[in-house]
Amino acid sequence: MPGARNEPQSPPAAERRLARVVLNRLKKRYPVIGTALEYVDPWQLLVATVLSAQTTDENVNKVTPVLFERWPTPADLAFADPEAVEAVVYSTGFYRQKTAAIIALSAAIAARRDGEVPADLDALVELPGVGRKTASVVLAEAWGIPAIAVDTHVRRVTNRIGLTAQSDPARIERDLKALYAQPEWAGISMRFIQFGRDVCDARQPRCWECPLADRCAYPDKTPGPE
Ligand code: SF4
Repeated sequence: MPGARNEPQSPPAAERRLARVVLNRLKKRYPVIGTALEYVDPWQLLVATVLSAQTTDENVNKVTPVLFERWPTPADLAFADPEAVEAVVYSTGFYRQKTAAIIALSAAIAARRDGEVPADLDALVELPGVGRKTASVVLAEAWGIPAIAVDTHVRRVTNRIGLTAQSDPARIERDLKALYAQPEWAGISMRFIQFGRDVCDARQPRCWECPLADRCAYPDKTPGPE
């Protein structure tokens, strides 16, 4: 049974085969994959990722050039007037919470001895407002360190296909890490996210045109339109 294993190093052969087929087909669909967020350093990506909650990357890319021009370093943003920051990030939604979050995390980074975003998952999740998903995105994208970000799309898609039976993101991450080689981690994670947006929708998955339909374990596949 998928996801019931305790030893992440040894998933059954059938699951490994399924994982390989899924990877190959998603690579075919998305030959090149990466974050659409625009950034020039890990701190900017971290801030942009926080701002991307509940909105599109496109929306975030409209505000971050203004934000980083006005407050170009973590120390600058740490001491920014919250109302001025709120005015800049307003259009990304939840602007008060997001402003508080990016100011707090910038202050925490500025207070570090090297003033840098840590290249380490445990240290990243210690930063205020940074969860495992955000930390994994930053590790993989900005530092090139293998990591699997598990968001709502990854959770839904991998459960439906049958690559895991877990709902807890850390356990899904563990299952996926056992199924895929390290060099594939960041890519498979980003592909699941994109696939969840494009095809395997939460409410009405487009199963009739899904390239994984013949291998997917989801029992309630959507029939094709008449
Ligand atoms: S067949 Fe349907 S449920 Fe399964 S992965 Fe494809 S879109 Fe998602």
